[in-house]
Amino acid sequence: MQANIVPDTSLSELTQAHATLKRSFRSGKLRDISYRKLQLAQLAYLLQDNYIAFQESLARDFGKHPLEANIGETGVVFERTLDAINNLDKWLASEDLSHETNPMFSGFKPTLFKQSRGPVMIIGPFNAPILLTLQPLMGAIAAGCPAIIKPSDLTIHTSSLIHTLVHKYLDSDCYRVVMGGVEQVTALLQLKWSSICYTGGAQVGKIVALAAAKQMTHVTLELGGKCPVILDSNVDIDTAARRILWGKMINAGQVCISPDYVLTPRHIQDKFITSLKKAWNEFFPDGALKSPDTGGIINDRHFYRVLSMLQHTKGEIVIGGNADVKRRKLEVTVVKDVQPGDSLLDDEIFGPILAVVPVSDVDEALEYIEGNPEPLAVYVFSQDEAFKTKVRENTISGSLIYNDTFFQLNVAQLPVTGIGASGYGYQGGKYAFETFIHQRPSMDVPVEAEPHLSIRYPPYTQTTYDV
Ligand code: NAD
Repeated sequence: MQANIVPDTSLSELTQAHATLKRSFRSGKLRDISYRKLQLAQLAYLLQDNYIAFQESLARDFGKHPLEANIGETGVVFERTLDAINNLDKWLASEDLSHETNPMFSGFKPTLFKQSRGPVMIIGPFNAPILLTLQPLMGAIAAGCPAIIKPSDLTIHTSSLIHTLVHKYLDSDCYRVVMGGVEQVTALLQLKWSSICYTGGAQVGKIVALAAAKQMTHVTLELGGKCPVILDSNVDIDTAARRILWGKMINAGQVCISPDYVLTPRHIQDKFITSLKKAWNEFFPDGALKSPDTGGIINDRHFYRVLSMLQHTKGEIVIGGNADVKRRKLEVTVVKDVQPGDSLLDDEIFGPILAVVPVSDVDEALEYIEGNPEPLAVYVFSQDEAFKTKVRENTISGSLIYNDTFFQLNVAQLPVTGIGASGYGYQGGKYAFETFIHQRPSMDVPVEAEPHLSIRYPPYTQTTYDV
């Protein structure tokens, strides 16, 4: 199925959609767990029936390889949606805390109810347009929240397909897709939401957070940044190089947790480059430009932004460097001897360039990371437990992965989360559900308890409250 391009949603349509969602929430139909399970099942069918159409749309938008479309997007949401259906009763069960409290309170039914927050908004980026809209949508459905999704305006084929299919498979009174960009997001931000889940760049993240603050709206910000790799000399360098290069080539480096630069002991820099070359030749026997496994850069603006970073580097290009302007494709490229202050160390690269930064020791690496905004992920390659612990204790980042890159996204039980400059809140699997749930504390104090409570009323007769 190839969806027609869906035009931008008008502002009046968008306001009407918001009103419909609010009405549906008030109607109480989303409180019914079997309704939620049915919508989740519909979401699973949407993904199962149309994964090939999604592969095609992603290829059309920016040349994403079908395997990456499947194992990185539709497959992940499909699997986690089934997981949500199977676990929803457990996830929604209220928690009786009477056995954990002070015995004085156990008779007062201390309970956490799992309550839907209300209508929510989901804003997605271009680089994984299915995963980063439909996974939060899965969470919203499971949590009983009606949702508006605003997918990226840069992936017009995939966003149009999402629009068409969500309205075809799901209840349009509760789940709507808004097409468009700045104008639509600006208008959506004027409306009152119970929660906003935003995934994208930090600049827009700030706009979203400021608008949400004006309405006291709960927000999840999944942002980007520069994810460093720290390489120890006590390492299997061929394996490390292969895993780092793989993490870099996925989606042509357009992934929030892509390894951005490698802090490498100076004395092993050349050995590391040799291992990277070996891996590069294995991955791309006919060259990276000819390889069908690497995609293109999303649009001209980003393509020339990435090329400009490369043109201005004072480092030495040692692998790749060639570009195909027509297909907006750049070879997976490695630059060595990159120094602090270099064009490659300014902003998130978000393209297929790996900067290798030589350092004297781990302390210099840690100091460099500490002097920069908190990354979404820190990667450490080492066989030395003391080295690994030292990095863990002396860095702050959303996640911390030892001896691999990128793979954390495949583990549903591990949340995707940032800290500081890389965002806040948790996403992925059950966390996508929890984001949209209010854990509502409750007690029910029986009249019969009154004699035991008299001590709390004035006039006070005691100075301590001994039980
Ligand atoms: P972006 O910030 O340009 O766009 C994200 C969304 O915001 C899009 O839907 C877009 O239409 C909308 N938007 C753009 N400009 C806007 C404006 N001025 N006002 C209101 N809305 C606006 O991000 P992108 O380029 O699509 O995505 C790349 C970024 O997302 C990278 O920084 C990457 O690291 C980050 N990202 C983070 C995660 C994560 O889980 N932490 C995952 C994927 C991508």
